[in-house]
Amino acid sequence: MAKPADTRTAGRKPAAKATRSVAETEKIRAALAARRDELRAEYDQTLSEITELQRDRLTDSAGDDQADTGTKTFEREQEISLANSIRERITQVERALERLDEGGYGWCERCGNPIPVERLAAFPSATLCVTCKQLEERR
Ligand SMILES: [Zn+2]
Repeated sequence: MAKPADTRTAGRKPAAKATRSVAETEKIRAALAARRDELRAEYDQTLSEITELQRDRLTDSAGDDQADTGTKTFEREQEISLANSIRERITQVERALERLDEGGYGWCERCGNPIPVERLAAFPSATLCVTCKQLEERR
C-alpha cells in the first residue's frame, strides 16, 4: 500500500500551536475512556431491552389485538434507533481517542486554542472552544 504524500492536512493548523501538558492529555484520555465504557453499558442495556421486546412479541402476541402489536413494534423501533445513536456516539468517542493519540484532538478548529478538558469530557465530539461556539451560535 503506497501512501500518497499528505497534502490534505498541510497548512490547516496554525503554525504557532499551543501545547497541552501530558497530564492534561491523560485526563482527556481517562474522561473519554470513561464515557466510552458508560456508552457501552448503555448500549448493552438497550440491546437486551430489544431482545426482551422481541421475545414478548413472539410469546404473547397471540392474545394481542392489533393496537398492542403496533405499540410493541413502535417500542422496539424506538429502542433500535436509540441503540444506533448510542453506537454512533461510541464511534465518535473511539475516533476521538485515536485522534488524541495522534495529537490532533481537543483543539478548537476556529481559533486553535485547546478546548478545556471538562468540555471534551461532556462533549467528546466538540470541535470548538466555548468562546468560538458562542460566536457561531450568535451569528
Ligand atoms: Zn476557539
